[in-house]
Order: sequence, then C-alpha cells, then structure tokens
Amino acid sequence: MGLVPPIYDVVVVGGGITGAGVARDCAMRGLSTLLLERGAPGMATTASSTHLIHGGLRYLLYDRPTTAATCLDSGLILRIASTLLRRLPILWPVYRGQAHGIEAVETLLEAYDPLSEQKGGKRHLRLDAEQTLRLLPGLSRQGLLGCVSFDEWWVDPVALVKANLDSARRHGAEILVGAAVTGMLRGPAGVEGVAAPGFEARAAVTVNAAGPWIDQVGRLAQARVPLRLRKGTHLRYEAKLAPFGLLLEAADRRYVFVIPSPQGTLVGPTDLPAANPDSAATQPEEVAYLLRTVRRYFPSFPERFDATTVGSRPILSQAGGAALLSRDFAVFDHQTRDGIGGLVTIGGGKMSDFRAMAEAATDLVCAKLGRSLPCTTSCETLDGRALERPPENPRAACREDPSRRHPRLRQAQALGRLAIGFSRHLARRALLGRPTATAEDFRDYYAG
Ligand SMILES: Cc1cc2nc3c(=O)[nH]c(=O)nc-3n(C[C@H](O)[C@H](O)[C@H](O)COP(=O)(O)OP(=O)(O)OC[C@H]3O[C@@H](n4cnc5c(N)ncnc54)[C@H](O)[C@@H]3O)c2cc1C
Repeated sequence: MGLVPPIYDVVVVGGGITGAGVARDCAMRGLSTLLLERGAPGMATTASSTHLIHGGLRYLLYDRPTTAATCLDSGLILRIASTLLRRLPILWPVYRGQAHGIEAVETLLEAYDPLSEQKGGKRHLRLDAEQTLRLLPGLSRQGLLGCVSFDEWWVDPVALVKANLDSARRHGAEILVGAAVTGMLRGPAGVEGVAAPGFEARAAVTVNAAGPWIDQVGRLAQARVPLRLRKGTHLRYEAKLAPFGLLLEAADRRYVFVIPSPQGTLVGPTDLPAANPDSAATQPEEVAYLLRTVRRYFPSFPERFDATTVGSRPILSQAGGAALLSRDFAVFDHQTRDGIGGLVTIGGGKMSDFRAMAEAATDLVCAKLGRSLPCTTSCETLDGRALERPPENPRAACREDPSRRHPRLRQAQALGRLAIGFSRHLARRALLGRPTATAEDFRDYYAG
C-alpha cells in the first residue's frame, strides 16, 4: 500500500514577511501548516523595503486610522522581536519655502507623538538651525529653519522573516523553499491545495500571501485580486554615511529617507506606478532623482553607490490619487467573494503590521475550519520566550472605522484634526514661546 500524502489544515503560498507571519500564527494555534516559497525567504519585496518598522507618520495627512492601527501593531512587533529592532532617531530638516513649514511639521509630530508611544516611540524634539547644524555639520545652511526629530525601528527584514519561520517551525510548521506554486488543486469544495513541479500539497485552506504576486497566484484558481502596485527604488551604500536617519523633502514635494544601519546606508524610496512585479527595475531617472535630493541637502554626499534595490508595494486596488493611497490591508474569503471555497488571500499592508495581517488571515482560516483558536502571536517572542498577554487596547477598534473606506472623507477627517492641532500649537507657542532642544539634549534623549 502506498503512503497517503498528508492533508494539511493550511498551506501558505509566499515566504515574505506576510506569509512567514501567517505560517507562525497558524502553527502557534495548532494548525498543521505548510509554507511554500519559490525563491529565498524574505528576499523579494520585504528585502527591498526601507527596513523600518514604522508607524506611518505620512499617512496622518490623509489616513489617520491606518497610522493608529500600524502604531499598535508595531508596538506588538517590538514586544516579540525586540532583539532584532534598533531605535533609529530621524531628523527632518525644514527650510524656508518648503511644502510644510516648521510649525506645520511640528504639528504633525505633535499628532504623531501619542500614537508613536504605542510602539515605544519618543516624543519629538525641535531644534533651531544652529543646533541642527551641530548635529549635521554637512547639511546645507542656506534657508535652514531648524529640524524636528522622531524615531522609528530599524530592522534587517530578512532576519525578521527568518525569525518568524524559525518560530513557525518550532511550533510544527513545515517550510519548503525553492517550491514555486504553479497550480491549484480543485475539487468539489473549491481549492483543495496547491501543485508545484514534482509534488502536490493538499490542504483544507490555501492562503495566498504572495505580496505583489497575489493576483498572479489568485489567477491559478480564477480568483482576481486587483492591485495598484507602486515601485520603489533605494540606493544602497556599504558605508554608514549619516549619524541618524534623515527625512528630506524632494523637489516634487515627496519625501526621501536616508537610513543608516549596521548594514550601511539606504537612500530612498522612489514611488512610481508599476505594472508587473517581475519586471520592476531601477530606472536611471530614479537614481538621478535620489542623488539630486540627497545632494541638495548634503552637497558632499557621495554620488557613487554600491547597489540599488527595487520592489513593488503590494497596495490594494482603490479609488483616489496616488498620494492618497491607503496602505491598509484586507483579507479576502474567495468563497463569499467569488464562490471559490478553500482559498483566502491576504493583501495590502506593510511589514510594520505583518503580525496584525497574520492574525486577521488566521482568524479567517480558523473560521473556515470551524475551529475557535485564539491568536497567541504577541504572547511569545520570536525566539520562544513566553510573554504576558498584552492588555486589550481600545484603540484596536480604529480598524472598524467606516470612514476609512472613503479616501476623501478619510483625508478630510485627517486634515480637520491636524487643523485643530495647528491652532492649539500656535496658541501654545504664543503663550509659552518656542522651547527648542540643544544638540546635547538630542544626544542624551536618544542615548538611553
Ligand atoms: C520600496 C519599498 C519600501 C518599503 N518600505 C517599507 C518599510 O520601511 N516598512 C514597512 O513596514 N513596509 C515597507 N514596505 C512595504 C513592505 O515591504 C511590504 O508590504 C512587505 O514586505 C510585503 O511582504 P510580502 O510577504 O507580502 O511580499 P514579498 O516580500 O514580496 O513576499 C512574497 C513572496 O511570495 C513568493 N511567491 C510569489 N509567487 C509565488 C509562487 N507562485 N509560489 C511560491 N512563492 C511565491 C515570492 O517569491 C515572495 O518571496 C516597502 C515596500 C517597498 C516596495
């Protein structure tokens, strides 16, 4: 009698941060889990990110609920991955004539402070031009008004994926690398697993977690998942070229990061429409744009870089202009959406809320399996140390806010809140003057 191949509860397609998080969550809930990755884990979009577990400061201008929800999940990621995360202070220099004046920038940071605290962030500091130049002597002086600081968490994204996969394995998941899913097994119930060259894997539920390839993988089962991919390039330098992170306004009023780390320095990203994640490539204009931006602020910043990275943001299809695109995620049950049983897709989102994405996807998997199994991914570190269950956070309900679905309403609400904050900020300035920090204050503040 031949061996009967196992039937898994779940097979996960894609071993980027999303799939790795889903495999860990499924395995921790006791589901028999198999993950298939066609390349090397984490080496696709996840590796080409800006390497930040961030709260989404920029989304405060048009999508506050996403910033609030991302800060919450970043806080939980910090709990479980604290040994992999490093606090990165970031300076945002402001010049006369820029899109956001220094009072507007500080108002944005005042709005961000309480949300950022959810992820262990420190409240912002403001420095005048002289103190800014003491921290950044190579910074262009002309028109400089000062700077404002905030902080995010730097991470090696590939190490974060690996730590999730190691944890998933310890909880019983099987991980197959170099296994490209080329077909879906179909049966009366719908999708009953996947096919890859040389083998098949049967499963009660298949989770499509293929990042910018979710539409391609969905098509294997005739399930479309339209995306609005946005390509992003970074310049990579092997040397550490800045003492802190930097956020720089470009000529087109977008922002470019300079991210120093133990791995060198990243400058980027760009943000351009992309049609196909397989053909995303860095264009010479992107290189010129990034160099022009950074050298406008630091005229002696080296023109010679060591490499470029490029990836496609897996943004879900939505109405509205490119500048208002929500970075929120969604989980699709293809049974209710398309009449295809056994298939779930998790799309959108960011590395900074991968744990919440995995929880939402695994909740749906459990519902489809008819099993009530609570999520425990924030109760154990990635390296296996038990943690107390974090207290329920009432802010978690912000994901349910119905206004999030309408881009203009979302933006109007966000700007309304910032306008109130701006009036308060100006009133406080008038009453109390303008307290600013020195370069020493800044160093002491971020030293601990
Ligand atoms: C330029 C840029 C900067 C960014 N910066 C940040 C940041 O600083 N912080 C942040 O939080 N987010 C950032 N993001 C977003 C973040 O990187 C992504 O949301 C996240 O990495 C997506 O992870 P993923 O696992 O869904 O996709 P991926 O990392 O692309 O993983 C999908 C995997 O699926 C595999 N796959 C595809 N098809 C198949 C198949 N048929 N069979 C088997 N495997 C398959 C691929 O090989 C790939 O490994 C950035 C994105 C970009 C593009």
